Amino acid sequence: MKLLLHTCCAPCSTYVVHKLREDGYKDITSLWYNINIHPYMEYKQRLDTLKQYAEMIDLPLIVEDNYGLREFTQNVAQNIDGRCVYCYEKRLDFAAKYASENGYDAFSTTLLVSPYQKHELLTNIAEEMAKKYHTTFLYQDFRPGFREGQQMAREAGLYMQKYCGCVYSEEERYLKKRK
Ligand code: SF4
Repeated sequence: MKLLLHTCCAPCSTYVVHKLREDGYKDITSLWYNINIHPYMEYKQRLDTLKQYAEMIDLPLIVEDNYGLREFTQNVAQNIDGRCVYCYEKRLDFAAKYASENGYDAFSTTLLVSPYQKHELLTNIAEEMAKKYHTTFLYQDFRPGFREGQQMAREAGLYMQKYCGCVYSEEERYLKKRK
């Protein structure tokens, strides 16, 4: 099966790729499309880390290099607390469309490994996008492997980010800590 794996960052991809390969998925291509990561130097660092890791583990990588601060903030401005819906829709729409138009049998996402993501919302949106583009969403609950994946990332010396991605999540992370 030819699988397109939307990849949010290198650390989240460690366990997911390892597990998929172990399960017999040998033809995996990673896709970078993350308009939600800000500010720019953080975006660049996460992308550079993924490029470095993809090379380390011999993983084909497609990069859609689109730093989306303005578009993202404009689209979530009216509903900042509900912003994850837009964030998942935008990224998974791109992944499903790309998979459908480029001969992949299915798509999935490394977001499924994180216990910090809204897992059900994410899964529902991915299923919707699969229907929209007549492709298949490969679901697996990778969350039990999250800690193992983080350990793999540390051992590989990867940059480990401290917040989800958008400026609002950065604010939540550090304001909460200060309080
Ligand atoms: S918190 Fe994370 S998932 Fe939600 S909008 Fe921000 S970057 Fe996207």
